[in-house]
Amino acid sequence: MPHIVSVLVPTPKQSHLPDALSYWAENDLCAGTLVKVPLGPREVLGIVWHASTAPHEPKAGARTTDLKWISCVIEGFPALSQGWLELVAFSAQYYQRSLGEVALWGMPPQLKNLSAQQIQKRLERWQQQLSPPLGAKARPATNKRSRACAAQDPVALDTAPQSTPARVLATPPLLSAEQQQALNDIGANPGPFLLFGSTGSGKTEVYLQAIQALFERDSLAQALIMVPEINLTPQLQARVRERFAPLWGEHSIVCLHSGLTPAQRLKSWLAAHFGQARVVLGTRMSIFASIPRLQIIIVDEEHDVSYKQQEGARYSARDLAVYRARLENARVILGSATPSLESWHHSQASTVPGVKPRYQLVAMPSRIGNASLAQVHRVDMNHQPRKTVFSIPLLKAIESRLKAREQVLIVLNRRGYAPVLQCNSCGWKTRCQHCSAFKVFHKLDRTLRCHHCGQTERVPKACPVCADQDIGMLGLGTQQLEEQLQAALLSMGQELGREMTIERIDADSTQAKGSLEERLERMHAGDIDVLIGTQMIAKGHDFRRVTLVAAIDVDQALFSNDFRACERLFALLMQAGGRAGRDAHLTLARPSEMWLQTHHPKHALFEALKTHDYVRFATDQLRERALANMPPFSSQALIRVEARTAHAALGYLNELHTQGSSLLQEASELEPGSSFEDIFLYSAVPMQMQKLANVERYQLLIESSSRAHLQRFLRRLHEPLRALKKKHPGVLRWVIDVDPQSL
Ligand code: ADP
Ligand code: ZN
Ligand code: ZN
Repeated sequence: MPHIVSVLVPTPKQSHLPDALSYWAENDLCAGTLVKVPLGPREVLGIVWHASTAPHEPKAGARTTDLKWISCVIEGFPALSQGWLELVAFSAQYYQRSLGEVALWGMPPQLKNLSAQQIQKRLERWQQQLSPPLGAKARPATNKRSRACAAQDPVALDTAPQSTPARVLATPPLLSAEQQQALNDIGANPGPFLLFGSTGSGKTEVYLQAIQALFERDSLAQALIMVPEINLTPQLQARVRERFAPLWGEHSIVCLHSGLTPAQRLKSWLAAHFGQARVVLGTRMSIFASIPRLQIIIVDEEHDVSYKQQEGARYSARDLAVYRARLENARVILGSATPSLESWHHSQASTVPGVKPRYQLVAMPSRIGNASLAQVHRVDMNHQPRKTVFSIPLLKAIESRLKAREQVLIVLNRRGYAPVLQCNSCGWKTRCQHCSAFKVFHKLDRTLRCHHCGQTERVPKACPVCADQDIGMLGLGTQQLEEQLQAALLSMGQELGREMTIERIDADSTQAKGSLEERLERMHAGDIDVLIGTQMIAKGHDFRRVTLVAAIDVDQALFSNDFRACERLFALLMQAGGRAGRDAHLTLARPSEMWLQTHHPKHALFEALKTHDYVRFATDQLRERALANMPPFSSQALIRVEARTAHAALGYLNELHTQGSSLLQEASELEPGSSFEDIFLYSAVPMQMQKLANVERYQLLIESSSRAHLQRFLRRLHEPLRALKKKHPGVLRWVIDVDPQSL
């Protein structure tokens, strides 16, 4: 007898369609079953959302007769777990998106694009490739409730790996006292944990052993390790493999990130979904992977902004990790030497007596082998000749390290040769016509390139305004640093009888596939003397022979109008400094060094940095944020609008402001003390990058002391947001960014 099932489909964004569509199905299907359904002219992947409770008889004349039939069930797949469905439901609700969009967003493209038969073939091939074959005879799912839903108990998965006890024991190192204490704490408490461990304190080892401890208790358990950027962490990947492959085989570790081919992505996804993969290592997208026996989630470098998705559903994978862990009764460890102020705040004792902090703080202040942290030197650039790139004391320090065959790291947060060319006679600058930004000079091909819209042109021979040929450079880029340093080290190289190898890592120099990995490898092998780069080189790397790190030209962020800029800069500098002196032997005789060139050497940020005092920095910042009622003491959301003209964008947002305000007004009149009373609407303002590729961008900030109230209010805005768009045809799109990471 036919049933009606509701199915999540990729509904067009911001449409009026309900979250799930109803279809006829031959049999009852349990929630989480993968199906193909017709949607408009297409056939799309769908996920059964609600199982209907009773069969429906199609009645003549009833509206149900308009319903279409599902095309087919994708056979051989266990249903997605209840926990996964709840994660999707929460994410859609919290980040103000449609259920269908969020549910299908993280699905591998091949599952979405291939036909049911093709998927079947892929599944069979994947199962054959596994050795030993794991119940490979893709058993046709009968779609009977009993069968299809058996998969909700992941133990019943057809292809779950056999629980062979570990034969070859990988050999973990003897733990430091702090590592051991951290592991004990993690083992004995439910968490969530904030693992606050200095750079080089051995956090990775704690992750690996925490995972191993869980695996020893449950031989089918699965782990998720999230990293900000997979290309930057080949070392971590290697260590995970080295530790777990001997225990559970090569197939037991899979990666999930956007750089995989569609075929690889499908394979990784299947391995996680079928329980074959014991460790899933991935970027933010992997938070939506189906991992039915998930027991532990690691969020490495939890402060990293890459955990926030910047388009579509703008989720925070770190925040969802905490939520998912609670849903699945799994452990979650957020690890960092410079935790985000949000996480730090949650780990601190509440001012309300008796209220436990939300996260349990686990601290590892010492470095492995008691290597000391770098000594911080500040160069006051006010006392250096104008246009100095490398100050004399810094150059001397670099030379001394290179002579000892140690390595040097130089961080500049800007790529390109010099950000801007300027006419020295009339002041003309290389502004992009399409964006509110300057084009950057790239020396190699002598072009001016906009890093925002990509627009590229040849460098003009003369100023286009006054025809003067005296065009000079403003500011610094990584290419220029490389050149300057090459020149500065020339004579030293001659003296030593070997040429210094200077390499650069930034988005430009690593476009070719594999070139980033190649450079990192050479750095680890000691074949590079000086590595110059953007923040890419400051993250997580365990370079053993680096003893000097220098940050050039860091002042911009001190005066940004984004209230998080100081937090970012502090983390960047702490992390960069953390690359120095990781080998205790090298630093015994002479401590490693961190150099800062700044015009504001007395700034509180540098004072805290000098003593490696994250806690002091965080406490100061949190005090300021509390006074100003900023996150984490309030919740924020941005309504962002893109329009053809500034007029259209502003008109739209101003009208939204009026309507939103009257919503708030009504609520407080109808119901004094209502949940909307603590909501504040700011006026619409242009985004920092107001114009991008000829599109005008404006935003409106909404703030509330309560997340829940903000959530409810945002829901109420969807209707006016949609209606106003019809009224303002110049508006191209709107989006809600919950917990925005940059203003
Ligand atoms: P973090 O992630 O905290 O910056 P890592 O996990 O990269 O630090 O560890 C720093 C270095 O110390 C690595 O080379 C790692 O192999 C090594 N290490 C970690 N734990 C131990 C230990 N217990 N004994 C010896 N070496 C260790
Ligand atoms: Zn000019
Ligand atoms: Zn541009």
